[in-house]
Amino acid sequence: MVLKRDSVEFNTTRRVEIQDITRKVEAVLDHSGIKNGLLNVYSPHSTSGVVVNENESGLVNDFKLALEKLVPEGASYQHDRIDNNADSHIRGFLTGGSETIPVEKGRMMLGTWQSIFFVELDGPRHRRLVVTVMGD
Ligand code: ZN
Repeated sequence: MVLKRDSVEFNTTRRVEIQDITRKVEAVLDHSGIKNGLLNVYSPHSTSGVVVNENESGLVNDFKLALEKLVPEGASYQHDRIDNNADSHIRGFLTGGSETIPVEKGRMMLGTWQSIFFVELDGPRHRRLVVTVMGD
């Protein structure tokens, strides 16, 4: 078994933004040469998320609206006394910051309609994700 680690870097352009990063992650997998194992995408940022779901534009927008409805901005949060981005952190708690995807025959075993998304919750920023691939 071998372990390969790389990063994926990009800029976000809005405060809340959902980016499909599947191609970027696939490029890391291809470069790793690993054909069977597990791939993990991890965000070392507390105001972001990494999720797997369907890239249908209406649904992606529905998810963004649901996050904003569930955790409204500026709702008298204690953390807002420190740096005024409690909603970004709470949305990050809910989305989670990593995904692990099985790899078979050099491809991620994503379902037909599944994509990997980076969820920016306090942009715009430069973001760097860690991609670890383990296997043979
Ligand atoms: Zn904060």
